[in-house]
Amino acid sequence: MMLDSQHTKWLTMSPNVFVDIIDDSLMLLYNTHGGIIKISRDEKLINLIKMLYTPINLGVVKYEILDKYNSLDTDWALKNGIISIEESDVKPIICLPILNLQKDINKFDDNGIESRLQLIGSKLKYISGAFIRLSNMRNKDNSLLRRLRSIAATQHPCPSYEDSAASLTLDQLRVIIDNLKFTSIATIDIIFSSTSLEHYSYKELIGLLSKYNFAYRVHLYSEDYETIVTSINKIDIKLNLSFIVYQDRFSINDKSYTLNNAYHCNQKYLAYDEQDINSNIGVILPVWTDNNQEMFSKYVYTELSDIMESKVNFNTLFRNKKINSNFFGLIDVTPDGSVYAHGSKQSVGNVNDKGFSLVNVVIDEFKENRTWRLTRDCTKCKLCPYRFACPPVSIFEIQSNQIKMCHINYKEL
Ligand code: SF4
Repeated sequence: MMLDSQHTKWLTMSPNVFVDIIDDSLMLLYNTHGGIIKISRDEKLINLIKMLYTPINLGVVKYEILDKYNSLDTDWALKNGIISIEESDVKPIICLPILNLQKDINKFDDNGIESRLQLIGSKLKYISGAFIRLSNMRNKDNSLLRRLRSIAATQHPCPSYEDSAASLTLDQLRVIIDNLKFTSIATIDIIFSSTSLEHYSYKELIGLLSKYNFAYRVHLYSEDYETIVTSINKIDIKLNLSFIVYQDRFSINDKSYTLNNAYHCNQKYLAYDEQDINSNIGVILPVWTDNNQEMFSKYVYTELSDIMESKVNFNTLFRNKKINSNFFGLIDVTPDGSVYAHGSKQSVGNVNDKGFSLVNVVIDEFKENRTWRLTRDCTKCKLCPYRFACPPVSIFEIQSNQIKMCHINYKEL
């Protein structure tokens, strides 16, 4: 660019670039317009970007300082529009994107998290989804079906098989749904098995659900679909219902439930190994079984090309810094009345507790952070420059205790 020497020259930081500096020695530059990514260990470029980002500079410094920061990576940053040279009599104004941390729960002051919690207003509004498991399938044998489906239920909202058929009572269900009235939820997910109705009838259940203004998404195995839908249809109460129908290698039919159905149905297939993937099309849900690392490595693990091609925007990058979008706002309720932050293995409360309230569930999760704010910088990924561009920690990583399901060795970058 030809510059008019009468004007002052400035170095300006592009407001389209997301910057993440780890330990002052490793930096990710992610251009959200076009997705160009640069990992740099160059001290000069890192210091220049840090200087541009200091509040006093607001993304603009005098051009003359460039001499001090000349390097190959600085040249690259200039050529690729990460930093630009501008000339102007007055200092240019650059609006760098900065995360608004006013209500951030992590922004501790002298009074700690309690005072932050007071600031965030209505706690129940943070609950945006609930997976209520009405009962477990009772199955005492140790068959492969029971074993694999029980594992699947720890990772997906499909019915579970257990020794005992614990079942949420109607009163417990009422307590939960009464609490959900004040949340952001429009649709409640109900996980339904053929043993769900041993303690009450379809009519009583539908009667209770119809008292609320929610839509309901029912999760069940395909072999239970006809029985359950026929029974529901016999009751003269209309509910806003849709279905998620699960199938796997044990399913006794390969019928399509998505077409020509009275209800809106989504059909999903659970894959325990590569053979399950190869023999199916449609929505496939992988299940981590401890014995199928090869399948996960091939189909689930993140590749560098996934990150390079994903073109995430600032909202996503900032969101990944603060919350885990796979879990945030979601709760699980099990047949014994226990409540969990979605994906967590540790109960946050129980419907039978005296004075049970979902407000306490939200407060407890904000304090303990089991899954809602499980961002990659809280895990062994914390030193990886892709920690916020990478997909959030998944249920598979939590259940397998293997955080970092990727083929990227960030130490070699
Ligand atoms: S190390 Fe972690 S953050 Fe980095 S690419 Fe792998 S999974 Fe993603």
